[in-house]
Amino acid sequence: MEKNFELTAVDLYPEIMNIYGDRGNIIYFKYRCSLYGIDIKTFDVSIGKGAEKECGEADIFFMGGGQDAEQALIYEDFINDKKNILTEAVEKNKIMLAVCGSYQLLCDYYKSIDGKIIKGISLFKGYTESKTPRLIGNIAVKADGFILAGFENHGGRTYLEKGQNVLGRVLKGCGNNGEDKTEGARTGNFFGTYLHGSFLPKNFAFCDYLIDTALKNKYGISLDEVVKIKDIGGIDNDFEIRARKDIRDLRKFI
Ligand code: GLN
Repeated sequence: MEKNFELTAVDLYPEIMNIYGDRGNIIYFKYRCSLYGIDIKTFDVSIGKGAEKECGEADIFFMGGGQDAEQALIYEDFINDKKNILTEAVEKNKIMLAVCGSYQLLCDYYKSIDGKIIKGISLFKGYTESKTPRLIGNIAVKADGFILAGFENHGGRTYLEKGQNVLGRVLKGCGNNGEDKTEGARTGNFFGTYLHGSFLPKNFAFCDYLIDTALKNKYGISLDEVVKIKDIGGIDNDFEIRARKDIRDLRKFI
């Protein structure tokens, strides 16, 4: 008998933290799951209390980028109302994809370009200080069996503590700070990255990895096993592959 699989995704502050269309990450995650016959329930959660139920059900959290003003708008709620939820989630091996301004708020603090200290929730050990010029351009990153492609635009320079896992190493572009060739951070299954794009549509293999991780967490079953159970033939990735190849200044890296 065919078994139904359903994952729950929560988009945090989608109407505020969505610069460069980072909402495309949850949209692509939902699309990619549909290719495998996996249902997705989504919740938008923003400023204010009362999201414990939805967040408690979440298998994966998404949070996009934002300019300094947006980060200043949400950080108190992020600390006061979401920190405990996300701390519990990371301990339960749940997944989070936090991009740029959100990634910075998962660290200890972000010092904005006008010198304001915006506290974070310290799930990644490190800090960010904004400087000029902004770090802008296409970026390629080598990360644990993936070559990740994206677009970065940030003033922030992120410096991670020794021992804090990074997402990967910069092949082309700037990454965390344009100095130490690191990009992003990882704690458990929480991922921080500077890669906009949107990130997941440009990195379908990494999206499948997140789906696989979520299925293993929730059902103890891999994506490959779901493909067999549902007798799904090969997924056509031609469009995604051509789109990646079309990023001309990353072509020799991806
Ligand atoms: N405001 C932050 C910075 O400039 C984050 C920007 C972003 O999310 N693209 O570094």
